[in-house]
Amino acid sequence: MYTYKEVGGGRYVLSIDNHEEISAALAAFCGEKGILAGTVYGIGAVNKATFRYLNPETMRYVDKTFEEQMEITNLTGNISERDGKVWLHLHITASRSDYSCIGGHLLTAWISGACELVVEAFDVPLGRRLDPDLGITLYDL
Ligand code: FE
Repeated sequence: MYTYKEVGGGRYVLSIDNHEEISAALAAFCGEKGILAGTVYGIGAVNKATFRYLNPETMRYVDKTFEEQMEITNLTGNISERDGKVWLHLHITASRSDYSCIGGHLLTAWISGACELVVEAFDVPLGRRLDPDLGITLYDL
């Protein structure tokens, strides 16, 4: 599913295999290493991805799937814990064949080529709590 190398300072270089789904592979990696807090960033290429947009007026999520070859020009996210399990919050920007970019929250993305990430693991777990005013989960610091 992936290969990785620990590079010091709680950091890992993670290469997810071609045709894998990024969110699932990253969650599996965090589970394997017991990472419940951290940050992740990287690049890659995908040919199918579902992005999410939160409409702040309706507080509804709108999901959309794109099936085309795209470069991940940036994937950035954070890793925290909810109910004792790893909880990923990922954002993505991806470029199309005409060089325009689309992006949003990343739900799922299928690799078509490669996906190379850096995971920085923090030394203490970070939890989440639901903010009743915003209706979304925020860091519980
Ligand atoms: Fe978000």
